[in-house]
Amino acid sequence: MIKIERREDCSGCTACASICPVDAITMRPDSEGFQYPKVNEKKCIECHLCERVCPIANRKMEQTKQQDAYLFQLKNKTLRMESTSGGAFTAIAAQFIREGGVVYGAAYDEDLQVIHMRVDSIEDLRKFRNSKYVQSNLGNVFREIRDLLKGNQKVCFSGTPCQVEGIKSFLGKLCITDNLLLVDFVCHAVPSPLFWWKYVHWQEKKLSVKIGNVRFRDKRHYGYKYSQMVITDENGGERYHQGVESDPYLRAFFSNLSDRPSCYSCAFKKRYRESDITLWDCFDVGLKAKTLDDDLGTTNILVQSERGAEWIAKLTDDIIMIPIDADICVAGMRELVCSVPYTEKRAAFMKDVADKDMQEIIDIWLPNNFKIKLKKFLRRALIRLDIYDSMKKKLMKMRINNSFDNKHS
Ligand SMILES: Cc1cc2nc3c(=O)[nH]c(=O)nc-3n(C[C@H](O)[C@H](O)[C@H](O)COP(=O)(O)OP(=O)(O)OC[C@H]3O[C@@H](n4cnc5c(N)ncnc54)[C@H](O)[C@@H]3O)c2cc1C
Ligand code: SF4
Ligand code: SF4
Ligand code: SF4
Repeated sequence: MIKIERREDCSGCTACASICPVDAITMRPDSEGFQYPKVNEKKCIECHLCERVCPIANRKMEQTKQQDAYLFQLKNKTLRMESTSGGAFTAIAAQFIREGGVVYGAAYDEDLQVIHMRVDSIEDLRKFRNSKYVQSNLGNVFREIRDLLKGNQKVCFSGTPCQVEGIKSFLGKLCITDNLLLVDFVCHAVPSPLFWWKYVHWQEKKLSVKIGNVRFRDKRHYGYKYSQMVITDENGGERYHQGVESDPYLRAFFSNLSDRPSCYSCAFKKRYRESDITLWDCFDVGLKAKTLDDDLGTTNILVQSERGAEWIAKLTDDIIMIPIDADICVAGMRELVCSVPYTEKRAAFMKDVADKDMQEIIDIWLPNNFKIKLKKFLRRALIRLDIYDSMKKKLMKMRINNSFDNKHS
């Protein structure tokens, strides 16, 4: 039976719990709020399926293959604004639904916790738009998808690379069907659901509202280049917005303090993936295709399989999609291939997340001090003076040049 000796060796993908024939495995949160499998030894029949299905214990060798790449934008500006980058996921999922399929992705439940759910109408795809920087709870979704595929239903599953490899391993031969489409993205890491829960409740108290929605990557204030964490109330009224340098939740995430242990040595960081399509942000669109540089968001699309290519070829209406050399598309994209660095502070930070309330965590780890206020002031000043964008482009150019230098040295 599966034994997790090091917490970094489990991404919480649920494949082991889903495959167990006697339901001996349940997913339970640890003290940091991350889900891990727990085996009921009395029920276990020692079939070893859980060990064989685990995508970390049975890591797949990366195999190079032909890849096509595209820059993508939805023409519908409202939908693009709602999306994290260019709205490629909405276009792919909508096409899937038009052809009679159902789509699985990450959305909020009624308590603003992030869960995977199924959608079968184009209107409901809004629940999936915009990245949620929290590990989603997969619940029983893998088994649901297996049953749908057995019933000849078309299914599109989108998730983190570890979730995609988990479901692929769980489905085994059922994956061969053309009825399944797997979409993953470049994944920085996923933060703790417990930290998220504490943040949401802290904000509700501070803002004295029942929160209706949280958008991690809202472009309305300062565009795509400097998106904001935006909180709205139940009537859709905006109550809060802060950037990546000021909001405590985002600060912890981008300082790599709150991530799942497996994210610091991620087994799924690679260019040639098990998914059919990989999506990510195109912040350097001005360097790749000047005409698309409108600060409303662009998606990079990397096609990983023939099935992925077939679905991408179906996207024709109300979109802008420009082919681009795949090597150029991935150049400088560190998060595609490298894990986030482990910081020694993480253990102490997460211990406080487990033990303390959010205000105490902020006072100790994330105070809104002079340095933070100065950073925020400088960013906003650079935007007002219209030089933020050109500075960001110079940084992106350096990153791309460095990646080419490293490749050829
Ligand atoms: C946790 C996380 C980390 C990311 N890290 C990077 C990064 O380092 N660099 C980069 O360029 N891009 C990153 N992305 C991807 C990027 O944010 C966009 O999702 C991507 O550009 C596609 O945008 P879109 O406009 O096509 O669709 P979107 O509007 O982003 O569509 C959202 C899709 O993401 C899925 N999703 C949202 N939140 C989660 C979640 N918590 N777990 C699983 N699936 C989720 C939804 O189900 C939906 O399929 C990350 C996304 C997430 C969720
Ligand atoms: S060995 Fe088989 S029965 Fe035991 S927990 Fe694993 S899958 Fe379940
Ligand atoms: S990575 Fe997935 S399959 Fe492996 S132990 Fe964790 S939950 Fe189970
Ligand atoms: S960084 Fe790796 S382990 Fe962490 S959520 Fe992303 S794919 Fe999974």
